[in-house]
Amino acid sequence: MINPINQDSVLPPPVGRFAPSPTGILHLGNLRTALASWLSVKAKGGAWVLRIEDVDRNRCRWELAERQIRDLAALGLESDGPILRQMDRGETYRAALSKLHADGLLYACDCTRKDLALMAAAPHAEDGLRPYPGTCRDRTLTELKPEAIRFRLPKGEVAWRDGVHGAQVDDPNRLTGDPLLHRRDGCFAYHLAVVVDDGAQGITEIVRGVDLRSVTATQIRLQEALGIPRPAYAHVALVASPDGARLGKRGGAMGIEELQASGLAIPQILGWLGHSLGCLDRPEPCIAEDLLRAFAWDQVPDQGVEFICRRAEKDLDA
Ligand code: GLU
Repeated sequence: MINPINQDSVLPPPVGRFAPSPTGILHLGNLRTALASWLSVKAKGGAWVLRIEDVDRNRCRWELAERQIRDLAALGLESDGPILRQMDRGETYRAALSKLHADGLLYACDCTRKDLALMAAAPHAEDGLRPYPGTCRDRTLTELKPEAIRFRLPKGEVAWRDGVHGAQVDDPNRLTGDPLLHRRDGCFAYHLAVVVDDGAQGITEIVRGVDLRSVTATQIRLQEALGIPRPAYAHVALVASPDGARLGKRGGAMGIEELQASGLAIPQILGWLGHSLGCLDRPEPCIAEDLLRAFAWDQVPDQGVEFICRRAEKDLDA
């Protein structure tokens, strides 16, 4: 009989990732998500890779990506493989789009921003989500040219498991509607790039902020259409500022440099982050490796991150 422990040890090591968009600095909430993704795979002997999601050329700045990479390295989080940059991957995205087109799953979308804004105000827009109602879905796409292109989602719900929130059953048609894969301005869109790159980088687990939980079923549908294996998912809570507002990349949220300038050393920052992820009873100074042994998904709180942040800011003032 096979010893289950040996059986475990022959499972391929997991591959995790952190995939920031260089549109701002990484604040405590982003750093907490990055650390969770790193701890989760490293605790199982896996690999962790970094991807710069600069597919939206108009909003991304390479200096910000450099700073993000530097800030993660300051915490001890460094990519185990080459850092993928979405800006360089147009050929690959085009090939994925061609496959979906050959399978008849794409259509051209004529809706203007104004049309979409009106749709967002309609009563079906729930929790701030703006499902695309499928206005153009019966249109065909004759050739792949620079225009707005959407993926025709199949009907029905998707059952999936979240490492923090447990079993989920979502209807992507209700949550996002048919996702945009290519934009009229010539950029490939987030959903296409993220799914293709997770596949290309062999990602087996995705740890990201809970704000992306509602797009997971849509991305699973795209994985299915492209024949990309489904990774495991865990969506971690966001960190709120002392007034309860969500930390934003804009709006004065502090990154590593600002925290350090306020007198906080890296080991203290890691102590707070580790404590907020349930690895430490108290926010004691540490290095990332110190947190590996204690990291467990069932200890990661699904809420309550506001308190940790308030505490960090209180200590900052001291
Ligand atoms: N690039 C996205 C962001 O910075 C994250 C994408 C993902 O983790 O799937 O919010």
